[in-house]
Amino acid sequence: MSLTKLIHTVSIKLQKSEEETFEQLNTLAEVVKEEIFPKNRLTHYNMEMETLHIILTELIRSDLASKYFAYDCEAKDSIDYVITLDDQCKYCGEVLKDSKRHITREMFKLNSNFLQLIAEYRSTQLKKYLMDEYRDNLEKLKNRTQKIVPFLGAGVSIPLNLPNWKDLLLELDKGLTDIDKKKYREIIEQGDFLKALSFLKKYSTMYRKEDVLKRGIKDLITTRYRKENDDDVK
Ligand SMILES: [Zn+2]
Repeated sequence: MSLTKLIHTVSIKLQKSEEETFEQLNTLAEVVKEEIFPKNRLTHYNMEMETLHIILTELIRSDLASKYFAYDCEAKDSIDYVITLDDQCKYCGEVLKDSKRHITREMFKLNSNFLQLIAEYRSTQLKKYLMDEYRDNLEKLKNRTQKIVPFLGAGVSIPLNLPNWKDLLLELDKGLTDIDKKKYREIIEQGDFLKALSFLKKYSTMYRKEDVLKRGIKDLITTRYRKENDDDVK
């Protein structure tokens, strides 16, 4: 299935625009990449459970994602994955669905062809934003990056795959204690980003000083987000 068709199908089920639908698919791809994840992995990324459920169902139907069950065997205190709960535990041999000795959890994995489709789509979107004449200018600008100050409006961050404030702030929680992390996320969830920054400056062991915080934000954008865009622009 082409991504355009997938976006169309999912957008009808979500009752959202195709742009919004792509954003959700893109967020999913960006957050989990190739890892095996439970649904609640997306809790902090502005995606409703119902939305995620619809997206995953459609991706699995289109063979663009897979579903697994992670199980924890009490007998051996070990974890493994199976495709269905009709399977046996690799450690104790019990059939998982009939057993009380195993805690099971739904897990998902995006297939690499889905990640590929998302990357291609984003690159096409980017080209739409950068019409030919602008591409020439972009080439010139790229040679003078030390001398320019970009003024970017809203709406640029998504096609350029830059993080939004929320995602960026969520990643800056490294120097907080677990209790503070929870409180910090609550502030971000409430949308009070300035308060979240003040909170970091007050409680983070890493970002107490403003210039360190600024550098932290800059480094995050450079390392995590820029490389990919360099590839896209090329
Ligand atoms: Zn077992």
